[in-house]
Order: sequence, then C-alpha cells, then structure tokens
Amino acid sequence: MNEYVLSVNGGSSSLKFRLYRMPDESQLLSGQFDGMNSANPVFKAVYGECKQQENLSTEDFASAAHYLLSFMLEKQLIPNQQSLKVVGHRVAHGGEHYSGPVVIDNEVLGNIDRLSSLAPIHNPINLLCIQVFRQILPTAVHVAVFDTAFHQTIEPSRYLYPLPYEMYLNHKIRRYGFHGISHQYVSTVLSATFQEQSQKVINCHLGNGASICAMFEGRSVMTSMGFTPLSGLMMGTRCGDIDPALPIHIARITGTDMDNVDRMMNFKSGLLGVSQYSSDFRLINEAAQQGNQQAILAQEMFINRIVETVGAYAAALNGLDVLVFTGGIGENSEVVRQRVCEQLAYLGVVIETTKNRSAEQVISAQASRIIVKIIKTDEELMIARESVKLLAEPVDSGGVELNHDD
Ligand code: AMP
Repeated sequence: MNEYVLSVNGGSSSLKFRLYRMPDESQLLSGQFDGMNSANPVFKAVYGECKQQENLSTEDFASAAHYLLSFMLEKQLIPNQQSLKVVGHRVAHGGEHYSGPVVIDNEVLGNIDRLSSLAPIHNPINLLCIQVFRQILPTAVHVAVFDTAFHQTIEPSRYLYPLPYEMYLNHKIRRYGFHGISHQYVSTVLSATFQEQSQKVINCHLGNGASICAMFEGRSVMTSMGFTPLSGLMMGTRCGDIDPALPIHIARITGTDMDNVDRMMNFKSGLLGVSQYSSDFRLINEAAQQGNQQAILAQEMFINRIVETVGAYAAALNGLDVLVFTGGIGENSEVVRQRVCEQLAYLGVVIETTKNRSAEQVISAQASRIIVKIIKTDEELMIARESVKLLAEPVDSGGVELNHDD
C-alpha cells in the first residue's frame, strides 16, 4: 500500500523537509526553510521538474509547518491531509535511552526535553518542530529518529572518558557520537551492495560537520564525535580534538569567560579559524590553489586529522575492508580523497586517479587491498525508512499500532 511519509529535520536557523511515497521511496518534494527566526525567511522547494523559492513574512516554525502543508495540498503532492500517515523527525540526542527510532508520545517528548541538557542547542528546536507538526498533522504517527542511536552499540571501554567514574554515573558524561543517521545510511548501502566485504568499514562523513565511524558487521564500534559534536576531526568552524587544558588556559590568558571560549571553539575555529578566510572547503581549495598559505595549512591540517583517525580506527578494528567517503567534502573533493588515500598506502589503499576524478562509486584500483567507495549520504531517506520500518514491525516486538494514544 502506498504511504506518504514526511521527513523533518529542524535546525536553529533552517527546517529541511522531504516527502516520499513509500514503499517505492519515490521523492515527491524536497526543500527547506532558511533564515528561520530571522527577518528574512525563505522557502525553497523542488518537486518533479519544478523549483520554487518564496520570501516569507512568517518566521516561526508553526507558520512554516502550516505553509508546508498548504503547499503540499495545493501542488497535489498529497491527496489530502489524512494521507500523510507518517512524519519522521530527526532528533539530535537520544542519550542512553534510545538505540533506535521510537513513536513519539508524551513520555518520549518528556525524555527529549530532559535530554536537552546534553544537547542544549539542538534538542529544544527538535522538540519544538515535533510539537508543531503533531498539532498540524494530528492523524499522522510521528517518529523520532535519533542522531546518537546508531552509536549505542559502542562498548563502554570506548565510550567512557578516563574521568572519575562518577562523572558518568551522576552526569552521564560519556561519548555519544553524532551523524548516526548518515553513518547508518552508509552501512545499509554497503550491506545491500557489498555483503561479503563489509565486515570492517571506516566511514568518513566529511561535511561542514565531520566525523568518522568505525563499523564492524554494520554496527558502530567507535566514532570521532563524543559527548558533543565538537570533538574529533577538524571541521568547518569547529576545532575538533584539542588539548583538554586549553579552554581553561585560553580563558585565563585572554581574560574572557568560558562561554566565549566555547563560541570560539564551535564557531571561529576549524577551517575558518586556521585559514582566516572561510569555513567553506570549496573556497579554501580555490585559495590554496592560488597559493594562499593559510588555506594550504588549513587544508593540510584537515587531511592530517582524517588520516590519523582512519589509522587509529583501522587499529581498533584490527584491519580494514572498506573505506568510504561521504558528506559534502567526501563526496565532492577529489583532492581530499586523493591525499587521504595516498597517506593510507601502508594499509594497502590504492585508488585510480581517473575514477577518483570522475567520482565513481568505487575509486579503488583492482590491486587495492581495501575497497574505497564514495557514497552519497541521504539522511532524510534514512529517517523515512527507519520510521516506516518501525511501524511495520509487529506490535509485540517493538512496533506500534497506527493510532494515537495521547
Ligand atoms: P555538508 O555539510 O555535507 O553539506 O558539506 C558542506 C561542505 O562541502 C562545505 O565545506 C562545502 O564547501 C563542501 N563542498 C561542497 N561541494 C564541494 C566541491 N565540489 N568540492 C569541495 N568541497 C565541496
């Protein structure tokens, strides 16, 4: 039976959406509201062969959700409101509560709210989006798909920090990992196309935010983001791993407070901080090609971090079968893939320059001990799939009936 499923991904300044018809996964609509909570919100949508962009006078999430529903009805993308049976919501933090998707009821809402202490920027927005869409689409089942859930298979010896143990017991301080929806998507693509080789996989999600995940038999074994999405790789504006004593030292010597240091590490560091030019990898690459020394340095540091992390994770996995590049940079930057792979020659990685240049699905050479792939990530599709899969499960094994109970 055909079902219409909406994927919703709300951020602090944007609201992304996709509409699918399931089970064939045909994408009927994609788009986003940019500039949410600003004076100039913009609605962008692509459906069929059509593109639309509108400046809006309404800037809050409730107005955006109403606008989206009217748009889908007006363009006849859904026959009526009731036909939209499932809405999948991306939720940043599921803590230790959730290792998979869950149908949203009042208890789940309460848990997402409580977990806001672990993700103060993202969870409150996610919660707001859920509340707004539940109000507008009361007959749909709303499902939360967590960015942390995929990493709940990581062992305590890898997710704990070597701090006093009561920090974990009393404050839940541990590695959670993020980008789980993207890493899981890659894992499912691999298992569908590569069954026999995908035992030991390292997936490099390289975008504005960047993280690496080591997987064994499709499950997350280790990942570079930690308690927050600030740790691990160098990113667009985030510093990634630094000496943990530095924030305190910087606050002391500059006389600034810790909130400012936090902002510096999240918004003024990474590619932007080192290049003193841009957080956008395309621009860094162009500047580097023109001889800009800061851009060259930023690029080199970005690549070094990836190489070091892949090396560490190959050790953690005790070998490597498949290396994957995904995310805006991973999917599009020939230079990053080439330079990372050159430095992994000791693992037996060999790529073909022409395949890498044309961004083929498999870029490794026949002689390579490790298969190197480019997989275009699709978090919205993963959210839709996970939501539908949950609802298809028998009720007594964790699935649910399609009725609201609250
Ligand atoms: P994402 O966060 O996954 O959307 O990725 C955004 C990053 O991908 C930005 O740093 C972009 O500059 C980078 N990116 C997008 N297209 C390209 C490209 N063709 N070459 C290099 N980097 C790119």
